[in-house]
Amino acid sequence: MNKKLTILGCGSAMPTIQNNPSGQILEMCDKLFLIDCGEGTQNTMRQLACRTARLYSIFISHLHGDHCFGLISLLSTWGMMNRTQDVHIYAHKDLETLLRPLLDYHCQGMSYQVIFHHIDPKKHEVIFDDRTLTVTTIPLRHSVPTCGFLFEEKPRRVHRETGLKPFQYVYCSDTGYKPAIVKYIQGADVLYHEATYTEEYREAADKYQHSTAKQAAKIAKKAGVGKLIIGHFSARVIDQSIFLNEAKEEFDNVILGQDKTTYTL
Ligand SMILES: [Zn+2]
Ligand SMILES: [Zn+2]
Repeated sequence: MNKKLTILGCGSAMPTIQNNPSGQILEMCDKLFLIDCGEGTQNTMRQLACRTARLYSIFISHLHGDHCFGLISLLSTWGMMNRTQDVHIYAHKDLETLLRPLLDYHCQGMSYQVIFHHIDPKKHEVIFDDRTLTVTTIPLRHSVPTCGFLFEEKPRRVHRETGLKPFQYVYCSDTGYKPAIVKYIQGADVLYHEATYTEEYREAADKYQHSTAKQAAKIAKKAGVGKLIIGHFSARVIDQSIFLNEAKEEFDNVILGQDKTTYTL
């Protein structure tokens, strides 16, 4: 079964020509999941002709604007398109407090419901569980409550027969270097980990609770993941090949994330 990741944006908070803020669509177990929704997410989805009829669930890592400013416009557009499937948003409880008045004001009489699921980013717990997969939170280290997400296929007969391990995808953004997460993501097939800075900006990484590309790669190495994709690049770093080169010093199987790109996982 196809597993794909489409990166809509892998820039950080400051807008650049090259990168949109955070947003990605994960296709797994015949479902689509939107992970973070920075400004412009719906425009990029449109440019890529993303089909969203099967997209019912949105996961928001934290409430910094570069991860959620795109929500109200996307939800409003779906209303104008007479969408009928309800949308489930998994996020810190404050998102509902902030977004509900905007929905009430701008999106009256919509043809579908927006259902909020409050998550506690400090906890490691299952927040989504259906027939085919689970999603578990991974507490991260950032200036506001933030969690990553582990998407994990449930074991099926095909796994038992072939000895194959159920697939795991991990999203970790935004976070300072936090080796304590390694136990939660051990052996994952693919890890997307933020790499906001190069080593030159190590002090800024510590101060703002972000990671360098090298630190992201250290996490990938410690966890023994199959593949690392780095993103959330700072506008300060012009030559993005430095991210890749510094990450490769620690972990070989690393991909420099790119906007508007689909990866087969
Ligand atoms: Zn961010
Ligand atoms: Zn942030």
